[in-house]
Amino acid sequence: MLNIVLFGPPGAGKGTQSEKLINKYKLTHISTGDLFRKHLGEGTELGKLAQKYMDDGYLVPDEVVIGMVDDKIKETTDANGFIFDGFPRTVNQAEALDKLMNGKGTPISGMIALEVPFDELKKRLLERGKISGRADDQSEEKINNRIKVYQSETIPVSEFYKKQGKFTAVNGVGSIDDIFGKICGVIDGLQVQNNS
Ligand code: ADP
Repeated sequence: MLNIVLFGPPGAGKGTQSEKLINKYKLTHISTGDLFRKHLGEGTELGKLAQKYMDDGYLVPDEVVIGMVDDKIKETTDANGFIFDGFPRTVNQAEALDKLMNGKGTPISGMIALEVPFDELKKRLLERGKISGRADDQSEEKINNRIKVYQSETIPVSEFYKKQGKFTAVNGVGSIDDIFGKICGVIDGLQVQNNS
């Protein structure tokens, strides 16, 4: 099984690259942001709970996120592997994910971190806000808050995978296809390692 954590700040291009990766490698996409937005759209209790955190750019509490991911993994029985997008976002979530995946005998293969300078991120998120209608993309204040939360709570997740020798950085500035090519290069290397 190929289980990839696609990591990076808000606006790094994780969603765009995930779409291409799931097609190429036949993986199941688990985007916690998308899952929350689906709950929000359907007006579920979970959606209502998540909304107040999401709108202002704060993280939804770990136990809520972990429970939702656990359910999603359990209901997927025919996967070649998973792409985790926007998860884990805290060290606590990373530890929980390791426990889940190791327990299934299908550990995380590697983390790929998309690196994009903060000025570029802000520009991309404000642009996205014009078309997506996402509340958290609408103001510079909300965007700055998400970047701040990313720096304080999410960056330590990359250290967690570095310690396990599972971290690779990829430059997230350039054309979508060039970046995709670089990510595929990393994944193909992981598969060679797994099979040898
Ligand atoms: P972004 O474009 O900021 O990467 P996402 O679509 O991944 O956006 O997530 C949107 C919001 O959903 C986050 O700002 C946060 O409030 C919530 N969220 C998504 N994933 C997580 C997570 N793993 N832990 C906590 N909150 C999350």
